[in-house]
Amino acid sequence: TSIGISIFPQDGKDSSSLLKNADLAMYRAKSEGRNGYYFFTHNMNRDLKRTQSIESGLKTAIEEENLKLFFQPQLNVASGQIESCEALLRWPQPDGSYIEPSEFIPIAERTGLINDIGCWIFEKACDYQKQWNEKGLKQIRVDINLSGKDFVGDKVIHQLIDGISKNKQLASQIGIEITENILLESNEQVIQLLTKLHQSNVHISIDDFGTGYSSLNYLKHFPVTCLKIDQGFVREAPNNIQDQIIMRAITTVGHGLGMVVTAEGVESKEHFQLIQEMGCDLIQGYFVSRALPAEQFEKKYLQQ
Ligand code: C2E
Ligand code: MG
Ligand code: MG
Repeated sequence: TSIGISIFPQDGKDSSSLLKNADLAMYRAKSEGRNGYYFFTHNMNRDLKRTQSIESGLKTAIEEENLKLFFQPQLNVASGQIESCEALLRWPQPDGSYIEPSEFIPIAERTGLINDIGCWIFEKACDYQKQWNEKGLKQIRVDINLSGKDFVGDKVIHQLIDGISKNKQLASQIGIEITENILLESNEQVIQLLTKLHQSNVHISIDDFGTGYSSLNYLKHFPVTCLKIDQGFVREAPNNIQDQIIMRAITTVGHGLGMVVTAEGVESKEHFQLIQEMGCDLIQGYFVSRALPAEQFEKKYLQQ
């Protein structure tokens, strides 16, 4: 049972506003994992308004193609070459600022808009690959982030599988990043889809590795190409021996299982040296570059 509580008179002067606010508090109790209670606070109203405005704005942004893909390079530590990049979503606002994906992706997941977003990103990433090819630029893999809902709706996955059946090259052009939670919640169908992609040589990374409900057991059962060590471990690693030990362990497990290991959130020279010494294969982070708009990314990293 989830319970929401509002109190007369501060939370409402009449029964309908009291009920409405108790309802809001109940939703908070549900979203915090159920089986609990919440008292109404005025912040809940503010959060709801923000969520509603993001939700309606996002719908329009998708329809009007007002979202942008930025690209963040991934550097091969051994060769010093940029060998792939991650596509990260940006939502530009009229005042020149951006709404962060960490704010709008969870809302898109709740409302189902994430499926449209996933398809849009996939198509856009393919378009960019085509353009780069036509312009004679260096061709590197673009990794896109998939949400758990993309597997439930599985439209993007089928688009990718269909795309590869028509054009084998696509498998080396588009990779996917999934989180541990997708694996945790996965069923037979998800495993089949992932296996199919893996057999087609699609690069499959587990994002933010080490932060979810990690179970090393699933590394045995899931077809995965790459582990991306979460930036939470990397951030403090130069001064934190525990983070270093965990990172070394992930690297050893990944390599032992024949996977590529990427470190995320590499910001400084200290980070880089530590990671180089640990033997991670790829690094991604501000030390190399922030995520850049396509034009800048092309100029900086794809000119032959
Ligand atoms: P993620 O997939 O783990 O992406 C890495 C995030 O770390 C990005 O944040 C990136 O800008 C940031 N980052 C990269 N290097 C550094 C660094 O050196 N230091 C620090 N402090 N941060 C760094 P961003 O772009 O805000 O994305 C946040 C999250 O939103 C992503 O985490 C991903 O889970 C989600 N997201 C972004 N784009 C998409 C998308 O197209 N689809 C889906 N489903 N999720 C997305
Ligand atoms: Mg990612
Ligand atoms: Mg990550």
